Parts: sequence; C-alpha cells; structure tokens
Amino acid sequence: MAETKPTSHIVVTSIPLFSHESSVIEFCKRLIQVHNHFQITCIFPTIDAPIPATLKLLESLPSTIHCTFLPPIKKQDLPQEVTMQLELGVTKSMPSFRESLSLLCSTSTTPVVAIVVDPFANQALEIAKEFNILSFMYFPVSAMTTSLHLHLPILDEQVSGEYMDHVEPIEIPGCTPIRGQDLPRTFFEDRSSIAYETILRQTKRFSLADGVLINSFSEMEESTVRALMEKEQSNNKQLVYLVGPIIQTGSNELNKSVCVKWLENQRPKSVLYVSFGSRGSLSQEQINELALGLELSGQKFLWVLREPNNSEILGDHSAKNDPLKYLPSGFLGRTKEQGLVVSFWAPQTQILSHTSTGGFLTHCGWNSTLESIASGVPMITWPLFGEQRLNAILLIEGLKVGLKVKLMRVALQKEEEIAKVIRDLMLGEERSEIEQRIEELKYASTCALAEDGSSTRVLSQLAIRMESNAK
Ligand code: UDP
Repeated sequence: MAETKPTSHIVVTSIPLFSHESSVIEFCKRLIQVHNHFQITCIFPTIDAPIPATLKLLESLPSTIHCTFLPPIKKQDLPQEVTMQLELGVTKSMPSFRESLSLLCSTSTTPVVAIVVDPFANQALEIAKEFNILSFMYFPVSAMTTSLHLHLPILDEQVSGEYMDHVEPIEIPGCTPIRGQDLPRTFFEDRSSIAYETILRQTKRFSLADGVLINSFSEMEESTVRALMEKEQSNNKQLVYLVGPIIQTGSNELNKSVCVKWLENQRPKSVLYVSFGSRGSLSQEQINELALGLELSGQKFLWVLREPNNSEILGDHSAKNDPLKYLPSGFLGRTKEQGLVVSFWAPQTQILSHTSTGGFLTHCGWNSTLESIASGVPMITWPLFGEQRLNAILLIEGLKVGLKVKLMRVALQKEEEIAKVIRDLMLGEERSEIEQRIEELKYASTCALAEDGSSTRVLSQLAIRMESNAK
C-alpha cells in the first residue's frame, strides 16, 4: 500500500510484559496495513527499564508508528509478585501517561481520535474520557479469557464460596465449562485477596470502553464468539471486534542462525519444538524430568531453555547466566545427535513455520497458541500460569489439536509419561486426525487475514469508526 499522509492519530498503551507489548505493536502494524491514514503513538509504562525484546521489535517499525516509554517506576518500590507488580507499576505510571497524552493532543498535527488500551492498563479508559476521545480495549488473549473478564462481575454475584472449591464447572456463556481449579490462580485462588479485588475493580471499569478488540477469529472459538455477538446484538451497538489472528512478524534474532541451520538438516515434521514463552521457566525438578523425557522419547527436539524459576526476569535475555548448566549431567553429550538446546530465546515464528518442525511442546501462552495454529503445528500442552490452563482446555477439549502432559499417573515415572506423550504426538495413531484439524484451522487463520477476510474487514470497520471521531 502506498504511503499516505496521516489524517488521524491513535494512541496505544499496554503493560510492561513482552507478550502484551509485542501483540499490540503487531496490532498497530495490521491497522496501518489495512488503513494507512493513521499515525500511531505507543506510550508504554515501564518498570526499571524498557523490555530488551520489545526494543528489538521497534527497530523494524513503519515510520507511522512511534513508540515512547514513560519514566520508569522502580521495581524495588513495587510488590514482588509479578501480577501485582504490574498492576501497581501501571497505576503509578498513569499521571505521566496523562501528561504525555495531553502533550500529544495539544501538539499533534493530526487530531488524536482514539486510544487503545490493554485490559490491565484500563485506568487509561478514564483518562480517554477526560480528553473526549474514543477508547478501545485490546485483549491479547483468547475470546474465552476475554469472556471470563467481561463476565466476572456476574460470576462474582452468582458463585458463592471459593472458585477453586467449586464442585460444578463454572459456566461462562459460549465457553467450555471451566473447572474452578483451572481459573488463573493469581486472581481466583482467594476471593478475599487484593489480587481478586483488583481484577474485579478493573472489570467494572470495562464499561467505559467504546469497544473490545479480541485477538482471535471465529473458527477458533465459534460458540464463544457467537455468545459475545449475541450479547452485542441485544445491546444494539458494535462493541466486539474480532481482529485476530495477530501474529508476530518482526523478530528478535537471538540464536536464529544456529536454530535455522540445525533445522535445515532434519527431516520434514520430525522436530518437537519446546518453549515456555517469553518468561516461563520450570523448576529444577521439571527441567530434569523434561530432559530425560525428551531423551527417552527418541524424537528430535529443539528446546529453548531458561534458568529454573526465573519468571522475574520478564524478558531480559541478556545471557547473564548459563541455563545449560542446569541440565542433567551428561544430557547434552548423550543427545547431541538428537536435539539442540538454546539458551533464553529462539526465533519462534520462524521455527514453527519451518518444514522440519512437527510438534510444539508449549506453555499455551496465547501468542504461542496462535503462532502454532497459523503454522499448522500440533501441540503438547504444559500450562504454567495465568490463563494458560484455559488455552490448554480450548486446544485439547475444544479444538482437539494436541495432547496434554498428564503428570499425575501413578503407574509411570514423570519422564516416561513425557516420553510417551511426545511419541504419541509425533508418531501415534491420533496424529493424522490432529494434523487434519489443525490444517483446517491454519487455513481459516490465513483466510481471516486475506484482503477480504474477516479480520481485515473488521479492522476496516474499526478504522472507519475511529476516524469518524475526527469530524
Ligand atoms: N517468543 C519468541 N522466542 C522465545 C520465546 C518467546 O519469539 O524464545 C515469542 C513468541 O513467539 C510469542 C511471545 O514471545 O510471540 C510469547 O507470548 P505468549 O503469549 O505465548 O507467552 P508469554 O510470554 O505471555 O508467557
């Protein structure tokens, strides 16, 4: 598309987590691709310093997208627990966000017409109202998780006692019923906690938004999407915009050449890619079990390894330490023909789209889930935290495009169980059906992104609505 002079300005904000920042940056790129009259400024809160992996992404942005970082909030002044750290970090950044927005509104040569905010930075919705601009929430998660958030005030009234003790599955319109135990623990474990109080307060603020943008597409979550749309029809107003799948196109090249070179020498669909997202890590015990399970499976693998339990690192992959030293003794020597282990980071979308990759052992982060679907790679689910259990339920029980690691069978050692599920996914009887289903979803995701596809049409409608505010 030819470059056009921008006529309107959009402001975007997120939370200091790589997967949220990277997803909304990619959303901006898609919006500009579909509608090139926008200029976009991302204003991101920071804790201590901008995330290195995000800074890498900024190197390849189009000239109409600009990114600034708010003055950092010191981590030492925040709670240790990650979710509460993010929430307070973002809250403390809101005065400087207001100042930046005010400056932009008074100096921008094009009118600021809309603001797009992360659901966890929704304090910005109130600020948008002060400036009389349209506001949208961008959910970088599934429609199911979005529904859970939107439905929470009702659940809070309907469900008595602790969610985790609830015997009956919890019903959210259009979603696979959820066991209380599978809800995101940080928020739902204890209803008297500050975390639960915080998320409930946040969801009550959602009604301030003029629309909800979800990074999903209807074939992926048909009944959930239908339920969301029905609610919208009863409101008589377009609120939900299904803008997905939004998938990484820029990349951090760390370990790229070693991974690609190794994959080039493998047979088609023979490699299991193993990764736990931008910040997930296992315990030392789990690292041992996974290593031995991979070895026992006899399957080729490419594993992105991080130090044990270092979720605090939040995207800092500067190789301060050496994760390889946490592998079981002799593992690297014994598996040198079978696998490749890289530290901290790998170019995930390139690996998933490589012809040698045939499976993905994943923590089920939403970006990883969509990236695997877009490449047609069957998954083994190993959720760690947040809403990842919900994504795993969608993949295993809903879409049936993978197998899960069941770590509770008494008859088998954990490494034997891991080896079994790897062999089942890569070589088992179920593989061809799983592959067929994921290929259909891959096709649907490609169609959604096509010029006349659902995602493109929805982004056009959104752009028209945003621009109408300039008049
Ligand atoms: N990612 C990557 N290389 C890595 C680890 C992660 O490129 O070694 C990217 C991955 O492609 C995805 C994002 O980081 O876009 C992780 O997001 P996700 O939602 O899956 O998980 P989270 O990081 O939020 O746990």
